[in-house]
Amino acid sequence: MHDEQSMRIEHIGVAVDRIEDALAFWRDALGLELAHVEEVAEQRVRVAMLPVGETRIELIEATDAESPIAKFIAKRGAGIHHIAVRVGDLRAALARLKERGVRLIDEEPRPGADGCAIAFIHPSATGGVLVELVERADRER
Ligand code: ZN
Repeated sequence: MHDEQSMRIEHIGVAVDRIEDALAFWRDALGLELAHVEEVAEQRVRVAMLPVGETRIELIEATDAESPIAKFIAKRGAGIHHIAVRVGDLRAALARLKERGVRLIDEEPRPGADGCAIAFIHPSATGGVLVELVERADRER
């Protein structure tokens, strides 16, 4: 497996109070393009994707008070929430991590934004960084 060749920073997740307000900086002031906005019901969030080079900024807004993003913001305030790493084969990546005793939040892939399959690694296993693994549906390079 040569997964590391396709690995890259897929996106950086930023927890925001309101996407509309955050766009005043990221789109209007900084000048990034807003590619799309989508609700991910399964995670009770709305996300906005803004491409930057080969990666993207993902603005994440809670859609209800029970959303993990609402809890994150209540506890730590808005800001960087996670770093997403693209992998070619998510199941294989999870199997390798499990084999090495890495604590996972998601043992199995689940649906993410944009038709991707995603899984989160527990921050206690990564030195405090919430890491999301993403396998893109389109497998584009
Ligand atoms: Zn993400």
